[in-house]
Amino acid sequence: MSTIGTLYIVATPIGNLSDITLRALEVLKSVSMIAAEDTRNTGRLLAHYDIGTRCVAVHDHNEQQKIAWLEQCLLEGQDIALVSDAGTPLINDPGYHLVSAFRAKGYPVVPLPGACAAIAALSVAGLPTDRFLYEGFLPAKTNARQERLNQLRQEPRTVVYYESPHRIVDSLKDIAVCLGEERQVVMARELTKTFETVKSLPVGELLSWVQADPNQQKGEIVLVVAGHQMSSDQLPVDALDTLALLQQELPLKKAAALTAKIYGLKKNALYDYALKHTK
Ligand code: SAM
Repeated sequence: MSTIGTLYIVATPIGNLSDITLRALEVLKSVSMIAAEDTRNTGRLLAHYDIGTRCVAVHDHNEQQKIAWLEQCLLEGQDIALVSDAGTPLINDPGYHLVSAFRAKGYPVVPLPGACAAIAALSVAGLPTDRFLYEGFLPAKTNARQERLNQLRQEPRTVVYYESPHRIVDSLKDIAVCLGEERQVVMARELTKTFETVKSLPVGELLSWVQADPNQQKGEIVLVVAGHQMSSDQLPVDALDTLALLQQELPLKKAAALTAKIYGLKKNALYDYALKHTK
């Protein structure tokens, strides 16, 4: 009986072909097969590094059907590398169904870390990175997009979005509407490529800058949005709603203490707010 193979999840460059690890090149050379989102695209990377490994297409539309066949290959002892068109597989790219199925069966699944546009953008944005939220793509339609943005209006963590060049203007407009024109946004465009641009401005100004230059409406884009900053007077809307509700039943001191406990806030800030705003 042959030993079971390994599924390697291999990050590939997001533009500059040199952004690939030595280990990734070794694995791509040595595996029996590369499962690629787009075999033509991966073919260019392989040709650049003179790698002749067989490529098979595994993308969003056939991933679930291919799982049984890939499992058979693995059970026959073949090692498989999964790659996407750019960056880290599964990060807004195919691979989730495969990894979750293989992991559930206890097969070896090994990551080969490397480029990821979200992390590259965060690393140069100059916004807090100790905690951040990755939100993938915003919805394409205005109503749904505004709804999603409104849900994160009070989000204190830095938020990372992938964005399409066709929607960048509309999305920046909606960010300004929902989060306010002053919210700091970093647009990281064409990272690691010839026209790499990283621009950090309050979103109202960033929108004007992008609108004034059609070149900024091209290529691949990551938006890094500063988290909501709370001043002593600006408390989360949800907490204020709860405080108002509790105040109907309890003395202010008790209502403020309970609300503070629920939302992890300072009770004095809530108490002072209520004194100032309750007639
Ligand atoms: N798996 C990839 C990763 O690890 O970043 C992301 C794939 S997702 C389908 C493609 C999106 O990633 C693009 O629309 C863009 O938002 C972002 N992206 C990819 N490469 C980029 C680059 N070089 N510069 C800026 N954004 C990029």
